[in-house]
Amino acid sequence: MSTKHERIHRDEKNQCTLCLAELDSVYADLGLTKQELAILTIPRRVLTVSFPVRLESGGSRVFVGHRVQFSDARGPAKGGIRFHPDMTSGHASDLAFLMDLKCAVVDIPFGGAKGGVVVDASTLSRAELERVTRGYIRAIADFIGPFKDIPAPDVYTDERTMAWILDEYERIRREHSPAVVTGKPPELGGIRARRFSTALGGVHVLEEVMKERGLKAADVRVAIQGFGNVGENAARLMRDRGCCVVAVSDAKGGIHDPTGLDIAVVSSHKKQTGSIMDFPGAKNITNAELLTIPCDVLAPAALSSQLTEQNASDVKASIVLELANAPTTPAADDILFKRGKLVIPDILANAGGVVVSWFEWSQNLSGDLWEESKVLKRLRQIMTAAYADVRRISEGTGRRLRRAALELAVKRILEAERLRGNL
Ligand code: GLU
Repeated sequence: MSTKHERIHRDEKNQCTLCLAELDSVYADLGLTKQELAILTIPRRVLTVSFPVRLESGGSRVFVGHRVQFSDARGPAKGGIRFHPDMTSGHASDLAFLMDLKCAVVDIPFGGAKGGVVVDASTLSRAELERVTRGYIRAIADFIGPFKDIPAPDVYTDERTMAWILDEYERIRREHSPAVVTGKPPELGGIRARRFSTALGGVHVLEEVMKERGLKAADVRVAIQGFGNVGENAARLMRDRGCCVVAVSDAKGGIHDPTGLDIAVVSSHKKQTGSIMDFPGAKNITNAELLTIPCDVLAPAALSSQLTEQNASDVKASIVLELANAPTTPAADDILFKRGKLVIPDILANAGGVVVSWFEWSQNLSGDLWEESKVLKRLRQIMTAAYADVRRISEGTGRRLRRAALELAVKRILEAERLRGNL
């Protein structure tokens, strides 16, 4: 399918991760003009850089990195940095656009960005990873900054990576600039709760849905794909609330126990053995099997395009909580909708991370430090308010939540562009 949107900003292999069909229906329903469409969907900046890095082996290798920024009418561009072999500029662009929409859904003053380096981080030593990170930041330094574009962690980057980013940027600027990056270690101006805030934000939205449906935590069986920062914390938080986490997976595969997994023990098993597989008492399953396992809530918390036309008809869960970015293809989204499944879309479900990034950025700029209770309270308020906004639009129009969230975001971004005189 080639949509208007696709033609406008897709530039590489057709890794169709956004719900473009939905987006097109928003464009059509809202009667957007050509200018409005262009201002939303054409990136403000698409940057591709290359930089040589010395390897431990003595030789050197040239790495390629990208950074894409979308509309910054609502504030500086914001979004993670991903280290992944499939990090094309087209994929960075999709994910940057999602960040733009996400920040607007939760109504925080940022635009959207995303970037990363084309690399399999597991093949590099710690010293090489540090050199890659610093090389990438030197290459994009002119395009980021506390009031321009603020990176954060994403797939295969973490607090340690953010600390290197901060240090490299500050060396280049020859001054402190803690607000240039979020997701930093607390010792360098980060917020401890940022570690689990993406998962917690998703859990807050899920709790609202459970309340509406009269579901008690003990009756809810959960399957989570991904056991990285988001998946592991989601599993832990849901288990703490009394849900029965029946299956989890990491890149190597998954484990299933219909009576419920003790997530703290799974975490130590992973630490000891390097994987969650072969967990005592559980059955090993594949990542594909996890997606169609009997459960009530399915939370894809890994990579894009996991729920597809091929497996969407077999999903047993009645609720899909999209903790990953773009885990559902447009065709799968249609199938799930027709089957009466409730999909809580990524731009709402996983926005908790960037919300706490906003708190971190604000604190770095003001020099203030919030109590953790204040961080957690505000995160909950923002997530429940965003869900209520999205729910209201969905109820009013009878459309799925993704469609409602898109409409809300598009209206907010266009209003900011209008107020600036850009439309
Ligand atoms: N990478 C995260 C996301 O996709 C967080 C972005 C941020 O905190 O800026 O939402």
